[in-house]
Amino acid sequence: MNDIPRLLKQFGLRPKKSLGQNFLVDEQALAQIVHAAEVNANDTVLEIGPGLGSLTHHLADAARRVIAVEIDRNLIPPLQSTLADRTNVEIILGDILQFDPASLLQPAQRLPDHETTKLTGYKVVANIPYYITSAIIRHLIEASLRPELLVLTVQLEVAQRIVAQPDDMNLLAVGVQFYGTPRIVGRIKADAFYPSPKVDSAVVRIDFPDTPRVQVNNVDTFFAVAKAGFSQKRKQIHNSLVAGLALRREEVARLLQVAEIDPKRRAETLTLEEWARLAVLVDQGSGDRGSGNRGAGIGDR
Ligand code: SAM
Repeated sequence: MNDIPRLLKQFGLRPKKSLGQNFLVDEQALAQIVHAAEVNANDTVLEIGPGLGSLTHHLADAARRVIAVEIDRNLIPPLQSTLADRTNVEIILGDILQFDPASLLQPAQRLPDHETTKLTGYKVVANIPYYITSAIIRHLIEASLRPELLVLTVQLEVAQRIVAQPDDMNLLAVGVQFYGTPRIVGRIKADAFYPSPKVDSAVVRIDFPDTPRVQVNNVDTFFAVAKAGFSQKRKQIHNSLVAGLALRREEVARLLQVAEIDPKRRAETLTLEEWARLAVLVDQGSGDRGSGNRGAGIGDR
């Protein structure tokens, strides 16, 4: 959308690097993102960082309702101006990380407070600021009102980490894949943005299955064990768990034996199922000892 430089000039603005302001100007890339999310006339879409509204226009064409949360108050007047005739768009000033997504949607779509489950009520489609990619994904995945799916433009290297498989796993991949199924659905060249970022970008779609891929008793323990496993780069899993979980060597050896995991393997090679087996055993063996590093999450990856 060539309106971007014009809008910036008209409102006396310059893109802020500190807020990840690389505006998408390539119409094909914008259409590709909306297509990847299969946005239809029944959908409510949450957009993070509408910027100057280029993706918002496309979303408004396809969706029933678009809720766009923008942190930069200087962008609100141009957004209101360019989206003035869009009756299905709500622009909200604020930091997405400070909003519970449920509070942005209609009360009728809320779940009871104790339920953390998939709701088919809304999709998140966004060209997000890259500097808070993990924090945004964690915030949305762990929200009480989890989206039906996420379609996000992220740095290519981060996209590749998110979809990584055993032998090449990392904490971000374990965190995302515990909850959802991610795939890279497209790439976007740097010159599709204004200004062009120094990195290549990819479009990632994350779907959330009705039942999680693995069963654990305690999600915190699952993440504490995975975080401990990845705490020491390229080390054998046995040593990483001893250090990261503050357990005795013999106890870790026993856990790995029962879980049928070779203690010499590296964290990068473990499957989700193996992390889950370990987490269940740690919980069983922990009694009131606690498992050390509790409370890790996607943002810590
Ligand atoms: N969606 C627009 C586009 O595609 O042209 C802009 C994308 S730009 C990569 C990221 C946008 O996110 C910027 O407008 C920036 O101000 C906004 N942003 C940065 N941090 C944010 C946050 N914590 N909450 C909401 N918006 C944020």
